[in-house]
Amino acid sequence: MSAQIVSTDVLVIGGGLAGERCAIEAAAAGHEVLMLSVVPPRRSHSCAAQGGMQASLANCVKAEGDNPTLHYLDTVKGSDWGADQEVAQIFAEEAPVAVRELAHFGVPWTRVKAGKNPYFVKGELVEIEEKEENDGLIMHRDFGGTAKWRACYAGAGTGHAALYAVDSEAVRLGVTVRDRAEAVALIHDGGRCWGAVSRCLRTGEHSAVLAKATVIATGGHGRIYGQYTTNATINEGTGAAIALDTGVVPLGNMEAVQFHPTALSPSGILVTEGCRGDGGYLLDKDLHRFMVEAEPEKQELTSCPATWHAACVMAKVLRLNTVRICGSMSGISARSI
Ligand SMILES: Cc1cc2nc3c(=O)[nH]c(=O)nc-3n(C[C@H](O)[C@H](O)[C@H](O)COP(=O)(O)OP(=O)(O)OC[C@H]3O[C@@H](n4cnc5c(N)ncnc54)[C@H](O)[C@@H]3O)c2cc1C
Repeated sequence: MSAQIVSTDVLVIGGGLAGERCAIEAAAAGHEVLMLSVVPPRRSHSCAAQGGMQASLANCVKAEGDNPTLHYLDTVKGSDWGADQEVAQIFAEEAPVAVRELAHFGVPWTRVKAGKNPYFVKGELVEIEEKEENDGLIMHRDFGGTAKWRACYAGAGTGHAALYAVDSEAVRLGVTVRDRAEAVALIHDGGRCWGAVSRCLRTGEHSAVLAKATVIATGGHGRIYGQYTTNATINEGTGAAIALDTGVVPLGNMEAVQFHPTALSPSGILVTEGCRGDGGYLLDKDLHRFMVEAEPEKQELTSCPATWHAACVMAKVLRLNTVRICGSMSGISARSI
């Protein structure tokens, strides 16, 4: 059996938001880019993200005074000081640029509406007047662990909108996409990566993709927890596995697993964090709102892992039942899910 050999400047393994954005950057700089993806890029798991993306644009009343420094401080605190602080700083500073750039690529961000608007704050309906001069700017919603409203969102389909926009941009820039193609091994000489071996999931044929630079952007690996994950079935961690398999590439921050308090049981499908920002709150089986006791200030929007753990142990062990989420979520009733 003969194996096909192709070469490119940059090989991007993964067609989710991370891979697509990386491919755009490389292609825009004039490099030839080939992208591998198990599924067509637009079906990558990024498509499932609903809630929003943090950027301190400070466009609405509840975001006034926000800036990259506050975003950076929230990020470090929210990670329980586990985050790489240099990366967190770059992230906080670049996020406003990235959000505006996504608007340029075509993401239909939800916008500020001047005048009185009904919002939920700590589960209560309040009316807030947005300024005339902010009308039409990118809107923010409240998300976990943030001092200001900072999450920029496109209705309830932020990931979907962003993924379709970046994929269109990648196509426009001439990125070559091989979907239904799985990277099964990295090609390396122990010191340098030269590309990857890819298997076509339609025919089973293998090919060698030789590249001057290889990027692994294969997303999360929640499926290693079986059904107890919000991740799609393709999120099995094969990208991380081929790196580890080289014996020379270590994996970092493997302890950083995000806990989500509003996943549906037993499917694992996530009720977006945005529903808590938009007024959803958590009740135990006795209809007791336990997060108000556990964290009076941010309540259901606390980011502190220790508080969440303690609160959920309290709700589960003391009251012996699963948690319910109540309230309204962008007009959709999420009661008793
Ligand atoms: C339900 C849900 C809601 C979320 N909501 C939010 C939110 O509101 N805000 C937020 O910021 N984040 C949110 N997240 C997290 C966010 O969606 C992810 O962190 C992000 O989309 C990951 O992007 P990615 O490009 O790294 O990975 P993915 O989108 O998972 O893409 C991985 C890509 O790698 C490819 N791939 C995998 N293995 C291989 C292989 N061996 N060979 C070739 N290709 C491979 C896949 O085909 C896919 O194209 C949410 C996540 C979930 C599950």
